[in-house]
Amino acid sequence: MSGARERDSMYVKDSELKNKTEPGTLYLVATPIGNLSDISERALKVLREVDFVAAEDTRNTGKLLSFFGISKPMVSYYQHNRAERGEAICRRLEAGEACALVTDAGTPAISDPGEELVKQCADRNIKVTFIPGACAAIAGLALSGLFTGRFAFEGFISGAKSERRARLSELSAEERTLILYEAPHHLRETLKDLYSAFGDRKIALCRELTKLNEEIIRTTLGKAVEYYGEIQPRGEYVIVIEGRREEDRFWASMTVAEHVRFYMDGGMTKNDAVKAVARDRGVKKNEIYMMVIEK
Ligand code: SAM
Repeated sequence: MSGARERDSMYVKDSELKNKTEPGTLYLVATPIGNLSDISERALKVLREVDFVAAEDTRNTGKLLSFFGISKPMVSYYQHNRAERGEAICRRLEAGEACALVTDAGTPAISDPGEELVKQCADRNIKVTFIPGACAAIAGLALSGLFTGRFAFEGFISGAKSERRARLSELSAEERTLILYEAPHHLRETLKDLYSAFGDRKIALCRELTKLNEEIIRTTLGKAVEYYGEIQPRGEYVIVIEGRREEDRFWASMTVAEHVRFYMDGGMTKNDAVKAVARDRGVKKNEIYMMVIEK
């Protein structure tokens, strides 16, 4: 056998070994976030070979499997049955079955059910492995045109208004690029709250990634609020926001009173100046009031 052919056959042997579906293993299988062609060859192989599939929504996953001509027993694994279903899945894995965990789209365990199951498996020394594929957060970050060297993923920020605002106020000091997920019916509110917490930073709104209507809007928070005042948000979004820059900290050497005065000298009312100072410093408005009143 020539050297090249030997190397080729070694490569085949290695890859066959590496790609062998193992008993007693949980496979986290990433699925497409919009374009079915993004499923990997290895994902399909694992889905064909495992004993059963744990799916966030068995109807959705059933459609995906049947599109690729795969028929496999499924169990549902979602937010509200995680505790008891996780236990049952672990027992089957311990008995030697192989399971693929699949969510509705993208990488399982990233703002998706799965995190808990991985923890349960880790606690019980059950092998967990990963079949990589799409993740909306990473796709959005890569497309954002913003700094990608250091980033923070916050997942979904929505929830009760006061909680959301408090969290955004904490995040306004974050220097890394920030990635959020958002549903279309919450987008307007979230953009408004982001604008009042962060000021007019650069953002990228990454919509319907990998789908026919994929759109990347690179703009600022102020312009995004204006734009979606007129346009109805539709589809799925990843919001990528520039981190706090050094020049945003122009006030660093000022006292709180000087900082408030700075905005009032620029024409703001005392109330607005206090709000702006609270936003800059990532603290509650009342704390600034107390400090200014005490002065
Ligand atoms: N685990 C998934 C992943 O790896 O991306 C995320 C699941 S999370 C429940 C769903 C959210 O991801 C959506 O609300 C949206 O914010 C984002 N998302 C998913 N698919 C998307 C797409 N094609 N374009 C933009 N955002 C998407």
